[in-house]
Amino acid sequence: MLDETHDPALRSWVESANEPGTDFPIQNLPFGVFRHDFEERPRVGIAIGDQVLDCLAAARAGCFAALGPLIDDALQSWSLNALLTLGRTDARAVRLAASKLLRADTAEGRHAQTLRDAIIVGMDRIGMLVPAEIGDYTDFYASIFHATNVGKMFRPDAPLLPNYKYVPIGYHGRASSIVVSGTPVRRPRGQTKPDANAPPAYGLSKSLDYELEVAALVCGENAIGETVPIARAEERIFGLCLLNDWSARDVQSWEYQPLGPFLAKSFTTTVGAWVVTLDALEPFRTAAFARPEGDPAALDYLNDAGDQSRGGFGITLEVWIRSAAMCAADLPAVRLSSGSFESMYWTVAQLLTHHSSNGCNLKPGDLLGSGTVSGPEKDSRGCLLELASRGAEPVTLPSGEARSFLADGDEIIFKGWCDREGAARIGFGECRGEIRVAPAVSSQTERTK
Ligand code: MN
Repeated sequence: MLDETHDPALRSWVESANEPGTDFPIQNLPFGVFRHDFEERPRVGIAIGDQVLDCLAAARAGCFAALGPLIDDALQSWSLNALLTLGRTDARAVRLAASKLLRADTAEGRHAQTLRDAIIVGMDRIGMLVPAEIGDYTDFYASIFHATNVGKMFRPDAPLLPNYKYVPIGYHGRASSIVVSGTPVRRPRGQTKPDANAPPAYGLSKSLDYELEVAALVCGENAIGETVPIARAEERIFGLCLLNDWSARDVQSWEYQPLGPFLAKSFTTTVGAWVVTLDALEPFRTAAFARPEGDPAALDYLNDAGDQSRGGFGITLEVWIRSAAMCAADLPAVRLSSGSFESMYWTVAQLLTHHSSNGCNLKPGDLLGSGTVSGPEKDSRGCLLELASRGAEPVTLPSGEARSFLADGDEIIFKGWCDREGAARIGFGECRGEIRVAPAVSSQTERTK
C-alpha cells in the first residue's frame, strides 16, 4: 500500500534530507525520543536529514491539531508509548502529517518553514534516549543460518534441534538494561567454566560478543488469553530498529542448560535511536524466506498467504568495528560483515503471533528481537562467535590485531538501510557501543573475599 509519502520525487525544505545517501530523507520519517541540551524533559522527535522535528514544539505550535486531541497529546508526551498505545492507524496519520509539514511544496510545509527555529533542531545539539519505555523484551533466534552455525560448534552431530522448523525459538530478555546507541558497554562479570575438569570461577567475561539484530516495537494491546492471528500481526508492529544483543559467550556456554540464556545477555542490550515505521518500510517488503524443499510448512496458526508473499523486509545490515589501537592510529572503522534481513527463517509477524499464541498479552512498548541475523555466506555472519569460528579463525584488523572476541576499547557499529530501484533509499541510523573496562567489584563483594 504505497501512498504519497513514498513518492521518491518528494523534496523537503530541510536541505540535508535531500542529500543522496542520507538515512533520513522525507520518505522515511522515523520516530525517536530526545532531549534538548537546555532541558531534561524528553520529547518525541522525527528524524529528517541531519535534523529532528521536535514534536512537542510542533504540536504546541498547532502543527498536529488537525489530527485530534488524542494524537496531539501523544506527540507531547515523554516517550513513544502514548503513540504506541493508539496504534498503527494513528501512527500512520502522524507520519503523513509530518510528511506534509516537511515537504517544500505544500501549504503545511510553507507554514512550518516559518516556524523552523522553534520546531527543528540539529542532531548534533540533542541527546537521544531509548525510544520507548520498554515493558518486556523478548529475543528470538530466527536465523536458521545462525542457529545452524552455532549449533555445529556445540553439537556437531545435531546442529539444528528438531523443534527449530516448527517453533520460533525465543527467550525472555531483560528490559531494564536496554540502553540507547552510543552508551558505553561495561564488560560483564560472570560464572564461567573454562576447564572441564576444574570447578567454575567467577570473574570478567573473556569472550564478549555482539549480536547483529533487528527489533520490532509493539503497539496496541491484546488481553491475557487473546491471541493475535497471523493475518493481523502487523497491526501490532509500530516499526523496526537496530539492536545489539551483547553476549558473554563463556558465561552463556556454562549457564544456558537447561533454561536458556540468562546473565550472559542481561547485562546490557543496545537499541538504535530511530524506529523506522512499517509504513516507511512498505516499498521494501519481500516474500518470506523460501523454505528449502523437504522442510515442513509452518503450522496453520503461523501460516498466512499474505505473510508468505510479503512478510519479509529487504534490509541490508552491516557490522563495523574500530579498536582503541585503530582509533589511536587514526584508522577508520572497518566492516566485519554484511547481510540481509531477508535471510531470516521466520517473519516478524510469525514471531509476534507465536509470542501471543498461548494467550500472552503483548503491550505497547514491548520489544521483540529477531535473533542474530546471519546469512548463508561466511561474510554475512552476524556475531564474532560465528565469524571467528569460536576462536579457531580470529579476525585480523587493519591495526594488525586479531579478534576472536571483543577487547576493551572496541567500538561496534551496526548500520541498516533499504534501497531499491524506484524507491527512495531509507536507513536506520546507527547502533553503536564501545566496550569499557568492567566496573570495580562492589565493596560488599570485596569484604566477603
Ligand atoms: Mn540474540
